[in-house]
Amino acid sequence: SPVPQTKGKPRLLLMGQRRSGKSSISSVVFHKLPPQETLFLESTARIQKDSLNSFMDFQVWDFPGQIDIFDNPNFTFDMDAIFGEIGALIWVIDAQDDYLEAVARLNNTILHLQRGYPHINIEVFIHKVDGLSDDYKLDIQRDVTIRIQDELSDQGVENAPVNFHLTSIYNHSIFEAFSKVIQKLIPRLGQLEAMLTNLCRTCRFEKAYLFDVNTKIYIATDNTPEDMASYEICSDYVDVIIDFTEVYGSWKRPDEWRDKVEAAPWKQGIESQIACEWAESGMVLADQQRPIMLREVDRFLALVAIMKEGSYDKMPQVNMNVDVVVKGLIEFFEITKTKATPGVVVGAL
Ligand code: GDP
Repeated sequence: SPVPQTKGKPRLLLMGQRRSGKSSISSVVFHKLPPQETLFLESTARIQKDSLNSFMDFQVWDFPGQIDIFDNPNFTFDMDAIFGEIGALIWVIDAQDDYLEAVARLNNTILHLQRGYPHINIEVFIHKVDGLSDDYKLDIQRDVTIRIQDELSDQGVENAPVNFHLTSIYNHSIFEAFSKVIQKLIPRLGQLEAMLTNLCRTCRFEKAYLFDVNTKIYIATDNTPEDMASYEICSDYVDVIIDFTEVYGSWKRPDEWRDKVEAAPWKQGIESQIACEWAESGMVLADQQRPIMLREVDRFLALVAIMKEGSYDKMPQVNMNVDVVVKGLIEFFEITKTKATPGVVVGAL
């Protein structure tokens, strides 16, 4: 089977039937369209290549749902061009509609992909679950999972890389799902997670995320249990900061300001090694009493963390530790960029 790499950038492919929500998902996640405005979107009627302003620079190919690309006399698709380089196929199923045909098509697609492109992760978004009860959501997820697994094992396919996510554009679940999808495509994710876990321990953070700022997808987090509420707080905070910089711009801070804000231990001789020239911000949430901080890592990435109550007093030490980790992160992505491991699905980060 073809090993996808070097030719292009890591790519996600978005497929699913008409009106399942593909255009809405790419508009909300990648172009910041408010969810209510997707009501006026035109349904996808052609293959769209969508270049993104994100650290992975992946592409979303939004396929028209009515085209069966594997069995269509009117179209001949270059399968290698479509599937040769993608890391994950996202298949959108409308949970508010009758989904039997969607599942049948998905099964057909998985079987085709398993033959030629078994490395591709298949990520099923059981979508539009807003307004459905928790029990009902889980019932649908169970039903879809069983229908797919039964069909695959009938066809002799075991262990296909198929994952399921419950999503909606009206809450953070769609961003959470994309985060999971992207994380599987990052080589050496474990190292990133270890860096964040260490940072949480030394700074007594409750939770830390590395965000792709423009999409609010998180690339990694520390090893404490997942917590939707923390993710929501941090991702809203990213929004606030982005709005702020759009209005006021960003600038390099003069040394006197830094001295005022950060004071000692900056004056203890290490400032020559660690110079903080990146955007940073902090805020204490009124309802939570927990400070939250953000630090820019590069053009696309930012570190966002929730601190423990009262840790604002320790800001100078926290800042020092954060600086070290930010440097580490920059190095991590430099190395991953230049020495992409052969055979890894995402060849060029
Ligand atoms: P496409 O044909 O797959 O590109 O589907 P569209 O993106 O055009 O979406 C079809 C309809 O579904 C639109 O009216 C959207 O507003 C709606 N929609 C998309 N995502 C969601 C969702 O998460 N929840 C709900 N309730 N509606 C959604």
